[in-house]
Amino acid sequence: MIGLWCKICNTETPKAECDICGVKTETEMPVEVCWCDNCKTPVIKEANAIDKNSCPLCGETTRHLGADLRPVFPEERLLIEIILGKPLEYLNKTVWVVNNRYFIDGQLKVLTSTKFEKANIPEVVEQISLYKTQNSYDMFNESIKTFISANKRRLEYLESEAFAFINSSVKKYPIENVVISFSGGKDSTVTADLVTRALSNPSIVHIFGDTTLEFPLTMEYAKRFRVDNPLTIFKTAKNKDQDFFKVCEDIGPPARMMRWCCYMFKTGPITRTLNNMYKNENILTFYGIRKCESAARSKYKRIEDDAESIKIQKQTVASPIFFWKDIDIWLYILGENIDFNDAYRLGYDRVGCWCCPNNSIRAQFLSKIYMPEQSEKWREFLIDFAKKIGKPDPEVYVDTGKWKARQGGNGVESAQDVKIKFTNCTTENNAKIYRLNKPITDEFINMFIPFGEVKNELGRKLIDEKIIVDIKTKIPIISIQPFEQDGYENAVKIATMNVKKHDDLQRMIGYQIRKYNACRKCLKCESLCKFGAITINADLYKIDSQKCKRCKMCVTAKYLEGGCMMDKFLKTK
Ligand code: SF4
Ligand code: SF4
Ligand SMILES: [Zn+2]
Ligand SMILES: [Zn+2]
Repeated sequence: MIGLWCKICNTETPKAECDICGVKTETEMPVEVCWCDNCKTPVIKEANAIDKNSCPLCGETTRHLGADLRPVFPEERLLIEIILGKPLEYLNKTVWVVNNRYFIDGQLKVLTSTKFEKANIPEVVEQISLYKTQNSYDMFNESIKTFISANKRRLEYLESEAFAFINSSVKKYPIENVVISFSGGKDSTVTADLVTRALSNPSIVHIFGDTTLEFPLTMEYAKRFRVDNPLTIFKTAKNKDQDFFKVCEDIGPPARMMRWCCYMFKTGPITRTLNNMYKNENILTFYGIRKCESAARSKYKRIEDDAESIKIQKQTVASPIFFWKDIDIWLYILGENIDFNDAYRLGYDRVGCWCCPNNSIRAQFLSKIYMPEQSEKWREFLIDFAKKIGKPDPEVYVDTGKWKARQGGNGVESAQDVKIKFTNCTTENNAKIYRLNKPITDEFINMFIPFGEVKNELGRKLIDEKIIVDIKTKIPIISIQPFEQDGYENAVKIATMNVKKHDDLQRMIGYQIRKYNACRKCLKCESLCKFGAITINADLYKIDSQKCKRCKMCVTAKYLEGGCMMDKFLKTK
């Protein structure tokens, strides 16, 4: 489906006229990639262009190739030649690719993922080093020159459109409150360059999210970026408290539906850095989000203040490259001759964490070649894990990628922690005895801040009772007391009083019990609280009573299902 677009409001709409300003909307100009057999180059054309079928360089008729394309750098070209058993065969040909469809001088050659899976890694590595010195960039450079001149108009259009978007987006913000999210990938490279140029300002804040699981080449590129852009304010957001492998040991490796690492190592640290820098100020963050990347992303608007994964207090996010295709990104990078992450030369089509369960078979194959130690260590870890959770065929489970489809905490010891175990008190109404997996501490009592104010002096000293009072009326609503219960290592008795809906309150209390028993410091809670009341460090989850507005978001299923992300990651059937 083609969305319609209001250029005035920068919003997408299905209607022919903008709901907000009434101006006629435009289609977002679908483009297609054509091929000129004479110039051996792709030509990006708007689908409705009158001159769609002619090459801007030689005037010959072009033919339709597909919806998108990316260049194949000589390093990747050599690799696929080796896989096909013909090293250097295409040295003097132009090579482009989309997914697994390679175009060699415009002729289609499909390379299925089986080819990657079946390849003999040590042999491939040996051949690469054998033929490397004969490999060259000569033909590649020539073909890119042709590509750039054939698509000059497209590049001009993309730039002027993006510049206008950037300039109109920043209007309401002081320049210090404009931030670029920099991941070291191609999209954020282009975004950073566009924003810096559009605003003619080299000192814009860049936040580099270092997940600790970056490709070595990404780290090298980030380092070069800092050196080459000395005026840029470059901040690194990183979770220094946690070790990815240790967490994997504890709660199991991430899987496609269970990417706890995203909170812990990416959005959490970035949110924290932004909150520390800007407190309650409004900020505008430029992200390199593109509509075509995934179905989930295509639901975003180009400018957005409510995107699920990037919800940060008072943050609006905008993407100048929202409608760009891969080929547009490369046209910009190569046309403007800007530095980029060398991982793309090797054939990675996206760079993120090297162990991400969303990585393709191709990317895994590349990692086996270019980062053999990490790949092997990861595979061994996964096999050990598979054994631990009782998979009958651990190696098959890992090598066929089944580990990526894992859901919940079956077989994982920590899964016990998310089960809320309780018994109803036999002597007192509205009282429950909950199992705790560690003794009651101040941190435990602190978990009750979202419900009201802790009044230690109101509790009965003899039984070590603590009382929570309603924030407005000061009437006691919760009583907390240590308890002995058979079968529970530690237990607490919690009674609710003077409230209309005891069950609702007990459910929310249950969520806090789960947090206390199961929190792995994934940082989700810290990011979730709009008021900065929750801080999480290596060994403490703390709610600040002064800052807490008792909005109850952190104890509401809608915002945090089960009261703690670990419920999703460790739940067992
Ligand atoms: S989310 Fe709301 S209730 Fe929870 S700590 Fe923050 S302000 Fe308090
Ligand atoms: S309580 Fe759960 S969701 Fe919140 S930070 Fe801890 S692990 Fe994450
Ligand atoms: Zn409008
Ligand atoms: Zn031509």
